Amino acid sequence: MSDRVYRPATLLVHQGRDRDPATGAATIPIYQASTYHHPGGEPGEYDYARCGNPSRDQVEEAIALLEGGVRGFAFASGMAATGSALSLLQSGDHLLACNDLYGGSWRYLTNVLPQQGIRVDFVDTTDPDQVAAAITPQTRALFLETPSNPLFQITDLRAMVAIARQHKLITLLDNTFMTPLLQQPLALGIDVVIHSGTKFLGGHSDLLAGLVTTADPDLAKRIKSFQNTFGAVLAPFDSFLLARGIKTLKLRLEAAQQNAGELAQRLKEHPAVAQVIYPGLADFADREKHFAQADGSGAIISFELKGNEQVKALLKDARLPIIAPSLGGVETILTHCWSMSHAAVPAAEKRTIGIRPTLLRISVGIEDIEDIWEDLSQALD
Ligand SMILES: *Cc1c(COP(=O)(O)O)cnc(C)c1O
Repeated sequence: MSDRVYRPATLLVHQGRDRDPATGAATIPIYQASTYHHPGGEPGEYDYARCGNPSRDQVEEAIALLEGGVRGFAFASGMAATGSALSLLQSGDHLLACNDLYGGSWRYLTNVLPQQGIRVDFVDTTDPDQVAAAITPQTRALFLETPSNPLFQITDLRAMVAIARQHKLITLLDNTFMTPLLQQPLALGIDVVIHSGTKFLGGHSDLLAGLVTTADPDLAKRIKSFQNTFGAVLAPFDSFLLARGIKTLKLRLEAAQQNAGELAQRLKEHPAVAQVIYPGLADFADREKHFAQADGSGAIISFELKGNEQVKALLKDARLPIIAPSLGGVETILTHCWSMSHAAVPAAEKRTIGIRPTLLRISVGIEDIEDIWEDLSQALD
């Protein structure tokens, strides 16, 4: 690809490299090799696959281009990406995190970081004053998710960046829900963006992957060193699948988002439904805050049913959706947050955050909306 600056739809398709330099093949091959020949004892562009390989480079360049980073990093899962990005912290540091967080990230922050001597406090990041008040002399970073998962709490990213700069904190944001197409946090001043590539970027529920990118060359250097040293890198075949998924992100996301908008309206009108949380709805509380920093509502809806009986009936009678703890696939995925995505979070904690057993999350796929609705409404009826 030339050095021209392309628009997102073009970038998704062509990414940083769109043909094999060795053969001209229309896709980057799966470079299934662990090590690379050193001619005359000198390393070439590649020396050992943990440090880099052309299949992985493709997705690393893609995420950097899409988010506006200087460099991207691909990991074996979203959690490996999160853990590696959080290696920017060291013993004695204090981390502030938003209190409604992906369950696996919550587990990492509460189980792993404290073992490493890093203190973590959860704070309501929708209120900048509470964030400012929670900062101590040891605070080094802010870990954010917006919209939060599954309650769609909206954190004002510009306000977080302003506080972080004042106190010299590193800001990290999990952008999995929005994807780089709908929200570009680096442009708002966020330091490190993390993705579970397992979700929308991969898009077909056929791989695990994680991505990190930053616009700060010094942070990039440190993350590169952790990636290479810790070694939880994305394998060549999974890199190939992820690169392939990314090519159709725009088409998939637009179709899924359109379905989600329609489904949110219909769910709202169903008598079994107590509440629908979706940024695209007119009554979404933080609509203005969300759309000041994002270009769309996304394809995920949370909704609350009136009772546990309705939840049981829906999970038993829905035929079309996969019932599972994931999101972002071409197929509709229905999640019971209490027992699936947030199983790692203790019951009392879930109740404090506002995750009740009657809460469901649906990642709307690209099927025909009438089929999705017929299936869900018969189960809800
Ligand atoms: C799934 C997910 C993760 C973790 O990603 P894995 O690829 O499953 O390790 C992190 N953050 C969010 C928001 C997610 O949805």
